[in-house]
Amino acid sequence: MAAGPIQDYLRDLHARLRGLGGGKLAAYIPELAKADPNALAIAIATVDGEIYSIGDDRTPFSIQSVSKPFVYAHALEVRGTEEVFRHVGVEPTGEAFNAIELDDVHRRAFNPMINSGAIATSGLVEGETQAERIAALDALFARFAGRPLALDKAVFHSESATGHRNRAMAWLMLNAGILTREPEQVLELYFRQCSLLVDARDLALMGATLANNGVNPRTGERALAAAVVGDVLTVMNSCGMYNYAGQWAFEIGLPAKSGVSGSILAVAPGQAGIAIWSPPIDANGTSVRGVAAARAIAEDFGLRTFTTHPSPSSVIRRSFSGLRLRSKRVRPPSERSLLDRAGAAIAVIELQGPLFFGAAERLIRLTSRLAGGAGWIILDFRHVLSADDAARRLIGDFRAALAQQGRRLIAANLPSEGPLAPLCEDFTRQAGALLFGSRDRALEHAEDALLARQGIVAQHSEVALDDMAVLEGLAPEVRAAIAGIADRRTFQAGAIIAEAGEHADRMFLLASGRVSVVVGEGDPVRVGTLGPGMAFGELALIDGGARVADVVAEEEVVVYALPITALRGLAAQHPELMATLLANVVRDLSDRLRLANGEISALER
Ligand code: GLN
Repeated sequence: MAAGPIQDYLRDLHARLRGLGGGKLAAYIPELAKADPNALAIAIATVDGEIYSIGDDRTPFSIQSVSKPFVYAHALEVRGTEEVFRHVGVEPTGEAFNAIELDDVHRRAFNPMINSGAIATSGLVEGETQAERIAALDALFARFAGRPLALDKAVFHSESATGHRNRAMAWLMLNAGILTREPEQVLELYFRQCSLLVDARDLALMGATLANNGVNPRTGERALAAAVVGDVLTVMNSCGMYNYAGQWAFEIGLPAKSGVSGSILAVAPGQAGIAIWSPPIDANGTSVRGVAAARAIAEDFGLRTFTTHPSPSSVIRRSFSGLRLRSKRVRPPSERSLLDRAGAAIAVIELQGPLFFGAAERLIRLTSRLAGGAGWIILDFRHVLSADDAARRLIGDFRAALAQQGRRLIAANLPSEGPLAPLCEDFTRQAGALLFGSRDRALEHAEDALLARQGIVAQHSEVALDDMAVLEGLAPEVRAAIAGIADRRTFQAGAIIAEAGEHADRMFLLASGRVSVVVGEGDPVRVGTLGPGMAFGELALIDGGARVADVVAEEEVVVYALPITALRGLAAQHPELMATLLANVVRDLSDRLRLANGEISALER
């Protein structure tokens, strides 16, 4: 049982509305006149499948006209808009649900939410035989409700025995060529869909499935093609409440559908499905308590479609310049000072939230401003939730425009699965687009590219042991002694050179290739990448405890390993060795600490 403020709210609302009078039971279908006029159920289902409900929330009732949008959705999906439009339009009538009226100009029913249009829609259900059509409808409703729906046989027989008005409409439509199948068979489907049993919780979940772009949030199953969802909600918005549709849109402002058994289904796109059931209905065929409850919920939760807009203003979470934020690549002083001067050519923009037209427009405008003339713009998508087609297109155009100016748009943290998969595909497919698994790797790439533009290219030649920075200041005979204890080794890409947890009994000097220092299991974080001429594992010299990080070869590397005990042995003969070595190590460490401090201060801003 759901608890918390939403549940409390529903309890209060239910207590407030249960005594509300007015309305009558639908009597024209004899079986519906037997309903309990005091029943009241309210349910809200979210797009992630949480259901809050109160009152007679597990009492079944026949779905009636609330079935219409779902069958319409099915028709659109299996027949396509063009064919459906030949039978039924999307024009509100301002007439009652059972009006005997057809659009003579287009020779079709006015819309699929009134009975005539709904019967025309039932005539489009997929299947060669009647049994196949029934199975198709059952499967459709089962996908939306997350379980098979039972048929209320009494209501079904009551409807088909007394539904002469609907029958008349079907024959009129046969005459007009709107129905092309045998009318009695079509009516059987129509009465059947109206007589399926749901409770308020089912209905709310069916609404949540529409709100969730067609995927049932409880089962994870796609109930409807995403492309059709917007069509259905639009018609619900304009026609779902019959001759009350305009007033409803004005007051409640949510796409909705009502039925004569006293239920109302309203959809807050992207947020929730809301279902209310209370049998007494007004002259429009709409539940009296249902309207009151929907009005309260829409108002209190700020759900009116045209007054709730996702805010585009927060699309940019933070931005950094390459002057302050650096990759974890530990660079020699010459490269560092160049980045200190020219780093502004790199911009990092951290995005957040869903990307849609409004957010993408702002992203592009602000990125252009924040990035200034930067030649490499890194968009970090880590906190982005989704990107619709409009956003994809705008970002694609932005990238192309930058490319024309010789500038690069680089994506980081763009997953190849989930809601961002299509955008990720754009970045992998389009020429000149760049994509990195982390912001750090994207930064490293941009730095390399910037350095290359300035004529600095990565060093490939092997650094001799004698030229290692950490040996600076040592006398030639001391260096020769060190060469005597050094173990020169080659590692292949991916090899682990030093492992977290192992006893740190030696330090390493990197002669060629790059190694990365990484911490954490599963999804390890790189804390630094070192290049030729640099030392690692040198803390062994200071504390000699267990290693805290893995060191992994990024490519084929050559290293010199210096065993600590052997070094100490040499130090006994050459007293100045340890002091010089430690001074060099400390100089190196303080450089890196300074860099780390710069990064921390950039990230804390
Ligand atoms: N089965 C009912 C009918 O056709 C459905 C009408 C409704 O719910 N508005 O009369």
